[in-house]
Amino acid sequence: MSFTLHGIGVSGGIAIGRAHLVSHATLEVNHYVVPPHQVAAESMRFDAAIQKVRSEFDELRAEIPAGAPVEFSAFVNLHRMILDDATLSVEPRRIIETEQCNAEWAIKVQTDALLAQFDAIEDTYLRERRNDVIQVVERILKALSGQPGYVPPPATGSEQELILVAHDLSPADVVQFKGHNFASFITDVGGATSHTAVVARSLNIPSIVALHRARELVRENELLIVDGTSGVLIVDPDERVLAEYQDRKRAFGVERHKLTGLRDTRAVTRDGVAVELHANIELPDDVEQVLANGATGIGLFRSEFLFLNRSDLPDEEEQFEAYRSVAVAMKDRPVTIRTYDLGADKQTEEGSYTGTNPALGLRAIRLCLTEPKRFLSQLRALLRATHFGNVSILIPMLASAGEIEQTLQMIARAKASLDDSGQAYNRDVKIGGMIEVPAAALALDVFLRKLDFLSIGTNDLIQYTLAIDRADESVAHLYDPLHPAILALVSNIIKRADKAGVPVTMCGEMAGDVSLTRLLLGLGLRKFSMHAAHVPDVKQQVLGADTSTAITAARAMLRASDPLRLKMLLAKMNTIKTPDAA
Ligand code: PEP
Ligand code: MG
Repeated sequence: MSFTLHGIGVSGGIAIGRAHLVSHATLEVNHYVVPPHQVAAESMRFDAAIQKVRSEFDELRAEIPAGAPVEFSAFVNLHRMILDDATLSVEPRRIIETEQCNAEWAIKVQTDALLAQFDAIEDTYLRERRNDVIQVVERILKALSGQPGYVPPPATGSEQELILVAHDLSPADVVQFKGHNFASFITDVGGATSHTAVVARSLNIPSIVALHRARELVRENELLIVDGTSGVLIVDPDERVLAEYQDRKRAFGVERHKLTGLRDTRAVTRDGVAVELHANIELPDDVEQVLANGATGIGLFRSEFLFLNRSDLPDEEEQFEAYRSVAVAMKDRPVTIRTYDLGADKQTEEGSYTGTNPALGLRAIRLCLTEPKRFLSQLRALLRATHFGNVSILIPMLASAGEIEQTLQMIARAKASLDDSGQAYNRDVKIGGMIEVPAAALALDVFLRKLDFLSIGTNDLIQYTLAIDRADESVAHLYDPLHPAILALVSNIIKRADKAGVPVTMCGEMAGDVSLTRLLLGLGLRKFSMHAAHVPDVKQQVLGADTSTAITAARAMLRASDPLRLKMLLAKMNTIKTPDAA
């Protein structure tokens, strides 16, 4: 039966393909159909995994030293009890047999049911036992992963036709897709500027977040249409709808292809104002896309992605190689590398601090300053890379003079240690700060005095100014780059930085939104950094813009406060024929 779901389109274009269900990020398992002659083997695989975990618990129990705290054996006993409960040790077998699915999926189905029961419990102690269930399930899944089972063929011929359907995916999950060729992915949760959506844009495949119940309603292998521009998912489309979207997909491809012709064209407005269009990257391999799309520099290298999806952490040498390779590949073009912005939704596998409100907790520079050894090793690696190209260093989430001071002292320490060991670096390396906390945007003086450049992180600036968790789809509709407070802050940052002669870039998602290019030019922005794939579209906007017309229109928007009027003014600004084009 055909039906439609609406979410937030995070990356434009249309994908048509078959659904492949993946599960929640914390219990990531695939779902596939096991052929009838393999079902008995799959059940045995499940039994063997349960047996293996039982033995693990028995060994753990036997190894408990005589004087160990009583809580320890109670904990092992509790986990053993959870394992032995029929919900986990027997019922999945029935699911494997009746639904002819893989063992991991059967366990996942049972776990979801079990966790839902826990969530409904009022007693806090009992409700918190849900984490014990998850730990036991993770052990079972680990045991299964050590036992090769039936390997399913892809749902369709190739990855390019697969649309991944997940309840939730972490940024770390999504960055792994860079090594794949999926047609699209869709999730139930997430906001337009969640880090998951941010990475999705860099994949340049149509994707949708905040679909609420897609994972529950879509079935494996079902035909899907993903319209990443409008955020519409069509499940099991009829022939007429399918034909229409196939046409739209072709037309979109033709448009994109035309834009590739702009790669070597300079980004200059109709009235001769040069604009810098840089790219945001997550990993060194992204440089290829940066150059292919004609970006003239890297405005934001989110270095924290080097720290994700691994059980150890990259040491100084490994980081140095990553930074150096980017600097060298960019051949003297500017490369701005941000110190690691870990915390909140980007956690290392070390399983670090999450806090009660992670976006307001130990994140980015706050975290760096609490772990001087790790931070110094990154700073040394970054400084060493400055010797091999045009590298500058960017600090995320600064909010106060004290943090700037401490950070600059850390950089001075890293420089001194390189001097001691006689290692080369650029002594005049530029140090910039992200303006993404409203306090920084409002108390800009100290940033302008102490730092060499600024970069406006609109994703967090909007999150913190409008008090909307960027990863929470229930408040995603409140995300509004045209909010008068945001326009006033952005305008103020650009004006003040210009007056002080401090270069300012914008590297949040607003910079890559073509509907905002003229507005930002009108507010005085001349340096944009965005996903490489957006560079040609934004360049096309720049080529068609006239800054004096944009300045007048932007002033009118700064005076407006009614949301509808603001939208109307923006639409008008974007349709105005510039003097030359008229
Ligand atoms: C931002 O906050 O706008 C930004 C560019 O940084 P991130 O999206 O990585 O938080
Ligand atoms: Mg940010």
